[in-house]
Amino acid sequence: MSERPKIFGHLMTDVIRKGTCVSCGACAAVCPVNSIELRDGTPTLVGLCVACQMCYWNCPIAVFDVTGMEEEVFGRARTEEEAAIGVHQTICAVQAKDGEILGRAQDGGAVSAILCQFLADGGDGAVVTGVEDDRPWAARPLVVSSKEEVLKGAGTKYTSSPTLVGVGSAVYEYAKEKIAVVGTPCQMRGLRKIETGDRSDARIKDAVALRIGVFCMETFAYPSFMEYLKKEGVDASIVDKFEIKSGRFIAHQEGEVVHDVKLGTVKELVRACCHTCGDFTAEFSDLSVGNVGSPDGWSTVIVRNEIGEKILKAAEKNGLVEVKPVEDGKSGLGIIRRLSKRKKKNAEKSGGEA
Ligand SMILES: Cc1cc2nc3c(=O)[nH]c(=O)nc-3n(C[C@H](O)[C@H](O)[C@H](O)COP(=O)(O)OP(=O)(O)OC[C@H]3O[C@@H](n4cnc5c(N)ncnc54)[C@H](O)[C@@H]3O)c2cc1C
Ligand code: SF4
Ligand code: SF4
Ligand code: SF4
Repeated sequence: MSERPKIFGHLMTDVIRKGTCVSCGACAAVCPVNSIELRDGTPTLVGLCVACQMCYWNCPIAVFDVTGMEEEVFGRARTEEEAAIGVHQTICAVQAKDGEILGRAQDGGAVSAILCQFLADGGDGAVVTGVEDDRPWAARPLVVSSKEEVLKGAGTKYTSSPTLVGVGSAVYEYAKEKIAVVGTPCQMRGLRKIETGDRSDARIKDAVALRIGVFCMETFAYPSFMEYLKKEGVDASIVDKFEIKSGRFIAHQEGEVVHDVKLGTVKELVRACCHTCGDFTAEFSDLSVGNVGSPDGWSTVIVRNEIGEKILKAAEKNGLVEVKPVEDGKSGLGIIRRLSKRKKKNAEKSGGEA
């Protein structure tokens, strides 16, 4: 007997009801009849289902073959030495040279500066993460096409955004033909699913030219995050930067630190799905960017393939960024590997993929 088609109901039982949906938006982006919406991060069937199976087979949580995907996108599986952080060529520290970018960015402004290079090279758009107008720090996808707009997305939001809904919108609504996508490790996995395999989305696949993943240890559930800040007397609407650094969770207002606690204090705000996630460094991107491993004010960049190498070299040649080696010791490459291994171990303990 042939197997039943895997349609939205299977996503409900295999992913959403199990609490492992990461709210990446891949299912909504590929539904050909626009019948899936993310409501407060939860994929919801809002129209007719034509049983095409696209949502199920493009979900990075329902099915994801790490080695198969590495072979497909990088041409080889990771070596033993790459076990913790995935296939890569080089790792370096990067800082934007433009003071405006540096002033608005989370760390060294590598992501925003590289996006500016991408747009200068003929890219007609990028999908980044901004915030909603009426809910402070509620992350949402933004389709941008200028430096000014790129900077609207600069800085880290510690809540989740359905980035791949933004990718669908960039391609199908804004008719973009050459885009860059910035996202968390889970979103990079969803993006690769959409771009590969028998059920890939041809228009999205043709349009995506650059994938920048950001390192990610966790995101907070929005309602719990807001409740926590209120309880602690922090007015989220006037916080200009949140950061997680050296095991502490810190909030800044007008350059002043207004909240500074041990990371353990906010662990209960972490979304359930993040506990089963073992990818810290966005292993399926072209370039992965984080702060650990580099000095303050710099970004650590993992170059994974030729696409990443080419754009970083162009940004350096055109004076957009400065590039230097990352230290080999405990506070450089060592900490990136250590955190990656720890995340994989914790994910395994929680029943997720290492
Ligand atoms: C949820 C989250 C957790 C992180 N945790 C760590 C960590 O534990 N250790 C570490 O070293 N680095 C972590 N990072 C990465 C770090 O915070 C910076 O994003 C990275 O160093 C790049 O800095 P930058 O100055 O080059 O980027 P910028 O030039 O400031 O650009 C940042 C880019 O990230 C995008 N972005 C912001 N928030 C989100 C989001 N919620 N989802 C998807 N994209 C987003 C923005 O749209 C922007 O394009 C995390 C990032 C996120 C989003
Ligand atoms: S039409 Fe296809 S993509 Fe949309 S809900 Fe049904 S099976 Fe999923
Ligand atoms: S594709 Fe993404 S948003 Fe949709 S069910 Fe899977 S994890 Fe959730
Ligand atoms: S921890 Fe994993 S699942 Fe959670 S937001 Fe980060 S990449 Fe996605």
